[in-house]
Amino acid sequence: MEVISVDGIVVSSMPFKENSKIINILTKDKGIIGCVSKGCKKLKSPLRLVSENFAYGTFHLYYKEDKLSTLIDGDIKNYLINSKSDINRISYLSYLCELSTNVFKESESDDIYPLLESAILKIEEGYDPKVITNIVELQYLKYIGIDLNLDECVKCGSSKIVTLSMDKGGYICGNCRTNEPLIDEKVLKLLRLYSYVDISKISNLDIDKNIRDHINMIISEYYDTYSGITSKSKKFLKDLD
Ligand SMILES: [Zn+2]
Repeated sequence: MEVISVDGIVVSSMPFKENSKIINILTKDKGIIGCVSKGCKKLKSPLRLVSENFAYGTFHLYYKEDKLSTLIDGDIKNYLINSKSDINRISYLSYLCELSTNVFKESESDDIYPLLESAILKIEEGYDPKVITNIVELQYLKYIGIDLNLDECVKCGSSKIVTLSMDKGGYICGNCRTNEPLIDEKVLKLLRLYSYVDISKISNLDIDKNIRDHINMIISEYYDTYSGITSKSKKFLKDLD
C-alpha cells in the first residue's frame, strides 16, 4: 500500500456502512480508482465534499491496485457551483460521468479523463450542455470502435457530401447516395467540427437550436444503434427534452 495523489473526478458513488461511501474516481493517469471514504456522510467530515459525485480535484489516498483504496484527503479544484444548482446541467454531468466510465472501461485510454474534465468545465462556464455533450459523444466514438468517417465520402472519397449514413459509417456524396435522406449542409459541417474541436479551447458556441437538436438526434440514434452502451441517465436526459 502506498500513499498517492491523483487528479480526478468522482464519477459514481454508493453508500457503504453507516456513514461512509465507496467512490469511483476517474483519474488522469491511473484509470478508475475505487475508494472507501470513511465517515464522509457526516456533516462535519472533511471528506464530505470531495466524496460527492462530480467532485473534481486532487485526491490523496492509500492506493491498492485492483482493490479498494482508502481516501485520506482531497483538494477541490472547482466546486462547480453553477452546475450543481441547475438540474438540467446536473443531468448532463451525470450522463457524461456514466458514459466516460463505460468508454474508459472499454478503451482503458488516458484520453478519456481530459475530455471529461474539459467538458465539465465548459458546462460550468455556461456553454450549452447539450452541445458539449454531443461533442464528447462524437469524440468518444473512436475509443469504442465505431468512429464515423467525417472527412470524405466513405464510399469513394469525394468531398461533395450530401448526407451521412450510419450504416456505412460516415459521409456520403451525391453519387454514392442510395436511399439515405439528405441532411442539411450546416448539420453535416458541424458534425465534423464537433469531432475535431478541442473542447478546452471553445469560446463561442452559437448554434441554431433546430440544428443543435438535429445533431443531438443523429448522435443519440447512432449511440442507441451501434454503441452497445445502455445508460440510465441518458433516458432521463431524453425525458427532460
Ligand atoms: Zn461517394
